[in-house]
Amino acid sequence: MKKKISIISTLIIIYSCSINTNNNLEQIKTLSTIKQNPEDLVSVQRLKNNLAVLSGNSPFEETIISERGSIEGRRKTREFLSKKLSELGYTIEKHSYRKNGENIYVKIMADIPTDEYILVGAHMDSVKNAGANDNGTGSTAVLELAYILKNLKNKKLNIILAWFDEEELGLIGSYEMAKYFKKLNLKINSVHTIDMMGWDSNKNNLIEIERPDGDLWEYYQAVNKAHNLNFPLRRTNSGSTDHVAFRENGFKSVGLCEEWVGGDTTPHYHKKSDTYENIHFNILESGTKLLAAVISDLSLGVNYPIKSKFIPHDQFPGKDRHFHKF
Ligand SMILES: [Zn+2]
Repeated sequence: MKKKISIISTLIIIYSCSINTNNNLEQIKTLSTIKQNPEDLVSVQRLKNNLAVLSGNSPFEETIISERGSIEGRRKTREFLSKKLSELGYTIEKHSYRKNGENIYVKIMADIPTDEYILVGAHMDSVKNAGANDNGTGSTAVLELAYILKNLKNKKLNIILAWFDEEELGLIGSYEMAKYFKKLNLKINSVHTIDMMGWDSNKNNLIEIERPDGDLWEYYQAVNKAHNLNFPLRRTNSGSTDHVAFRENGFKSVGLCEEWVGGDTTPHYHKKSDTYENIHFNILESGTKLLAAVISDLSLGVNYPIKSKFIPHDQFPGKDRHFHKF
């Protein structure tokens, strides 16, 4: 009887082991085919911490980045971003295009080797103010993608995360980078820039999509819906920011912004009062989530049926930004 019991229990163990293995296999299969939602990994606390340093609200290694317009302020900004990125295991690439003019970027390589890239970027300089909104928010959003997109599995496109220098002087850094990548013949699927994503007084989380080329307007809407983000999106014809530089060099581009044309935009634009305390983090979180979802789906090769006909940018309202000569 004892022997019989032990045979039965052995059989049970073998059987349950085999169920377990099957379950694991099923799980692995499911995980590799389901859509990934890196936007769920966006951390508001991390956005706050990083923006606090970029806007001089918290110290960076015993110094304060009080502005990002001077040579020294921009140098410290690059140093902070580079430190965060190297802690995450990235290799920082420096694109020095002139004395004291330097963009930085990192690459996230696809799991299936390819020579095609998606570029995501934000200008890191300010008009010699704290520049919490313009463009501490965009710089922080792109940095957040560095945390979360490196965990993405089965990427079919490479991703470049870039921080442009000297935007406020007239898109200098982004023009130089666009020209440089064009010269290198770099195959770029699309360029996504983010500039000012920190004001939303009516808390409607509306995100403006600036001059979305080709199928990008439809793609953003499809991702917004498929990922259940459901933010109100509005297409605009606003330029005077970094996506313009890439479009002019032949790259399919788009920009993300708070409600700049709609009017629910920061009253602290280019003022001393563009500080950390005047940021609405709900819109920074939303903008970062939308960007993360779009870049992730593009990189995974997720296709959405694009039905509508393409409409020219000038059919939509736009509003210019101002450049500053120091
Ligand atoms: Zn800006």
